[in-house]
Amino acid sequence: MTLSFTSLGLSAARVNHLEALGYHEPTAIQAEAIPHLLSGRDLIGQAQTGTGKTAAFSLPLMEQVDPNNPAVQALVLTPTRELAIQVCQAMRGYRLQGRPKILALYGGQAIERQQEQLRRGSQIVVGTPGRVLDLLNRGILSLKSLGWLVLDEADEMLNMGFIQDVEKILSQAPANRQTAFFSATMASEIRELATKFLQAPVTVTIQSPKASPRHIQQVSYVVPRGWNKVRALQPILELEDPETALIFVRTRRTASELTRQLQAAGYSVDEYHGDLSQSQRERLLMRFRQQQVRWVVATDIAARGLHVDDLTHVINFDLPDAIESYVHRIGRTGRAGKTGVAISLVTPLEKYRLRQIERQTKQPMTFMPIPTRAEIAARNLERLRNQVREAITSERLASFLPIVSQLSEEYDIHTIAAAALQMAYDHTVPAWQRSDSHDHNTLGKDTPTPKKRKVIGAKAEQLESTPPTKD
Ligand code: AMP
Repeated sequence: MTLSFTSLGLSAARVNHLEALGYHEPTAIQAEAIPHLLSGRDLIGQAQTGTGKTAAFSLPLMEQVDPNNPAVQALVLTPTRELAIQVCQAMRGYRLQGRPKILALYGGQAIERQQEQLRRGSQIVVGTPGRVLDLLNRGILSLKSLGWLVLDEADEMLNMGFIQDVEKILSQAPANRQTAFFSATMASEIRELATKFLQAPVTVTIQSPKASPRHIQQVSYVVPRGWNKVRALQPILELEDPETALIFVRTRRTASELTRQLQAAGYSVDEYHGDLSQSQRERLLMRFRQQQVRWVVATDIAARGLHVDDLTHVINFDLPDAIESYVHRIGRTGRAGKTGVAISLVTPLEKYRLRQIERQTKQPMTFMPIPTRAEIAARNLERLRNQVREAITSERLASFLPIVSQLSEEYDIHTIAAAALQMAYDHTVPAWQRSDSHDHNTLGKDTPTPKKRKVIGAKAEQLESTPPTKD
């Protein structure tokens, strides 16, 4: 028997609403956690992003807070502003008739505005520890009526040094509240915190099947001697044509330089690092989610605040120092049963590090030579073939048939089809990718425009010679 949301104890109206959202049955963490949370138990949930943990803690809150009482009754603490916004948005989606009211509170927003929003009444607050503590200390936020407290991504709070702030907030919350901690890993500090602030908690552990490395194809490219990495990256990007990618680099400077060079080559890419203002970061995140930007170049530290996990590609332009970071990075792709691709670019000297990663992760790594022009052209043609197959089954095809009939009075049907394909190919593949000055002249009649590639090459020299500054 498959579990239903109704059998977990959620109201019929909520279950109908979840159905409308496409949530037909609970995920593992929801099935395990929701009944405990509805019964009032404290809970430790070990679950990663992508398991449905947000709904697991949000739905019981929605069902229990009193929308007629304007006081803050539930507080969700998140390590980053981006996550606070994301959780707040997810929660708003689970509401019925716009109730209860939910507010996100994080640094960078005007305190006066938050004060005004709080004055108008909110039953649930989602916030970062620093800002929440600040508002508590100023007497703007009161936890007097707090009945529920959730700590989301507790391990990230620890990594980012927020645990003391969290402790201060927990100490100010009424003793008879219900508390839940969610964390991907259970460091001893988190367990200690739980012992101190949770009462007889039940522990629920969920392995994240979506993040399983099974779904991640790991490919490595060894940069030939005498080449710089940017020169090697471009043909890889052309071959793979990632729909969405996070490109990891070691330093902010590399992030900026690489972004500039890829943009100059005509790619939809932007940078994400510590030098950006909060509003710049939020704007980028939104554009990335809406796929107005396809790829983001980021440092490890900055990428922690970038809550995007459903990527087709993760690219290690620079390898991370620790194997855990490698696993964490590539876990952002291959979600929800889809196969993701994790690409690493290494110098011949770095190859041994990939062997180490291979041994420790027990996952095979494929080593590939840098793609040639001919391989890229062949891949582009294969894509075109697939697109044609899709178009043949589409409904819009009928409107083009009269043109084919007219032309067929003058030309052979094969010639018409080939001409249409050439137009489609020229439209989707940029001119400078269609032929090559070194390899074979594979496709298209355009002369190559080496300008773009030269730009890449010239700037790449600068990039390699710049000393790294850690983010
Ligand atoms: P989370 O782990 O909370 O970040 O959730 C991961 C994704 O799963 C989000 O996009 C949710 O909207 C989606 N999701 C959560 N629960 C369910 C469910 N029961 N059925 C389908 N999708 C879900």
